[in-house]
Amino acid sequence: MKIQEADAKSLLAAQGLPVPPWTVARDPAAARRAAERLFAEGADAVVIKAQVLVGGRGKAGGVKLAKDAAEAEAVASRILGMDIKGITVVKVLVAPAADIVKEFYLACVLDRAARRVLFMGSAEGGVEIEQVAHSDPDAIRTIHAHPHLGLLDFQARWLGFELGLGAHLKEFVAIAKGLYATMIANDADLVEINPLAIVRERAADGTVSEHLQCLDAKVTLDDSALDRHPGLEALRDLDEEDPVDVQARHEGLSFIRLEGDIGCMVNGAGLAMTTMDLVKRAGGQPANFLDIGGGAKSDKVAVAMGLILSDPSVKAILVNIFGGIARGDEVARGLVEARAEQKRVVPLVVRIVGTNADLAAEVLRGVPGIEAASSLDDAVEKAVAAAKAAA
Ligand code: GDP
Ligand code: MN
Repeated sequence: MKIQEADAKSLLAAQGLPVPPWTVARDPAAARRAAERLFAEGADAVVIKAQVLVGGRGKAGGVKLAKDAAEAEAVASRILGMDIKGITVVKVLVAPAADIVKEFYLACVLDRAARRVLFMGSAEGGVEIEQVAHSDPDAIRTIHAHPHLGLLDFQARWLGFELGLGAHLKEFVAIAKGLYATMIANDADLVEINPLAIVRERAADGTVSEHLQCLDAKVTLDDSALDRHPGLEALRDLDEEDPVDVQARHEGLSFIRLEGDIGCMVNGAGLAMTTMDLVKRAGGQPANFLDIGGGAKSDKVAVAMGLILSDPSVKAILVNIFGGIARGDEVARGLVEARAEQKRVVPLVVRIVGTNADLAAEVLRGVPGIEAASSLDDAVEKAVAAAKAAA
């Protein structure tokens, strides 16, 4: 699960990492008020940043500085509504603009093959790291954290020196170890700071000093570990999720939309994969992967039907149920209910075998628009033919 920069920064701040304060605004007036507060506190400028779950916002025009509150409002109204890599910006982060001396890259990522956490650092910060990896791979320094003890002090110091941060070594060691702590505390797969920057700060008495600050943050959480961190689910950004995905997760269904036109409703992930393979072999294109799970009840079947039909390209639906824990008649009843309620009618080919298959056949008998199939091959052929006829 990807989370927004603002939420990633709150996870970093919780581990004591130096992050500039921020406010998230959903309209230009709110951005203006946030900027007014920052200027009142002595900021020389503010930075307005699009909150979207993609990188390269700066290049796309989604990161801009403003010198006063009116400009902040104008900049925010330009960024809000902007399309960045296909995502519409609905919120911006407002923060005091940092006076950047130099930008670095620092990240830790789960290296599954090595079964360790890998640290990556580069003095070429700010730009996308993939680009650095391509043009100048030697500019990226890597080191594996200790599997039990985490990133050791000497490792962090080595990395700091390699990046040319000798003058900020103490701060750097604390930040690198803080990245590791953030990763472990939240079961993250990735914690990335780009840029980690040396920033110039002027104190009230006019003295100038330089410090390290995390100006951007990207954190990816392990979906399978979310149950261990109840608070983290709240960071899921529903603004950027397909409503269909949200509903599927809510109902406990595994649903993945694909390009084709044959909706597939199957119980069991393996059977779902097989069904999709057979559809392809028969010359059809599956519109989705859908595993309604074991022991699916009729209401779940109706919801699954709704998810499939929400895709306008679906021309036919293939239901393939192997009754084990799931009872065939229960699924059949769900199909009949869904059929009665659905607004859009497409050919429905059903193959139900296993537990209560005979009762299922009785339930489905004579229901208009539902075609029973004698075998899986038969079902697939009928579904492919129905989709072709409707195309
Ligand atoms: P990204 O493009 O999505 O990675 O967004 P970033 O937050 O990393 O911002 C992109 C670039 O904008 C950074 O590399 C900086 O050069 C610049 N930038 C971001 N925040 C500030 C800031 O507070 N002050 C200044 N001067 N530049 C900033
Ligand atoms: Mn960045």
